[in-house]
Amino acid sequence: MDTRTILESIQAVNDAILANESVIESLDREIGDGDHFINIKRGCGVLVAMREELAPLAPSEAFQRMGMKLMSTIGGASGPLISSFFIAMGKTLKGNDRPDGMAFAEAFSNGVDAIGQLGKAGLGEKTMLDVLIPAAQLLTTLNRNGVSLVEIVEKLKADTERNMLGTKNTIATKGRAQFLGERALGHIDPGSKTCQVAIWTICDQLTSNVGN
Ligand code: ADP
Ligand code: MG
Repeated sequence: MDTRTILESIQAVNDAILANESVIESLDREIGDGDHFINIKRGCGVLVAMREELAPLAPSEAFQRMGMKLMSTIGGASGPLISSFFIAMGKTLKGNDRPDGMAFAEAFSNGVDAIGQLGKAGLGEKTMLDVLIPAAQLLTTLNRNGVSLVEIVEKLKADTERNMLGTKNTIATKGRAQFLGERALGHIDPGSKTCQVAIWTICDQLTSNVGN
């Protein structure tokens, strides 16, 4: 993974988020306050606009700068959480100009841990962590076992979709949806949907690049 690939992924995630506007919008209108899509759209737009500034940097520095920028641009609960993810990724990759799959898995896991620490949340609380924690664990295990990229992508996509849909069956104990109690049952957590869209997009992009 190099900074060019990261920037291509940012662009692709931006496009995918825009294409999923109505789904993400309606989820946060159902069990949140309706601003999640706007928050994420703003964050993606800011990252896309940083393209030229980031292109010459190592992945570590690029992630750190993205995190700092997101801190001041995305609102809501998700802003500082996503920002902490990028900053932790950047810290982990320090000194590694071309991280391999295992290094990326470690950085991703540390990013997810940072979200958990800041948001004081774990698995099963109907937040984006319900998608991110299992994704980090799976990515680490599959990389450790030397599984091929195509197989990693296939497994990760299936797992991510299952966990995103699984948030329908839980009550929120973090975020705004916690005040709804059982009324949140049957609804997908908006942050989990956003993460699933982002992970699927990056997976598709990585496999479409294979052999190029
Ligand atoms: P807000 O909740 O302030 O309106 P957003 O609508 O942008 O912010 O984001 C809501 C999403 O943030 C939720 O769907 C959930 O996935 C995630 N979230 C909320 N609180 C937490 C937390 N403490 N830890 C992790 N994720 C959280
Ligand atoms: Mg909201």
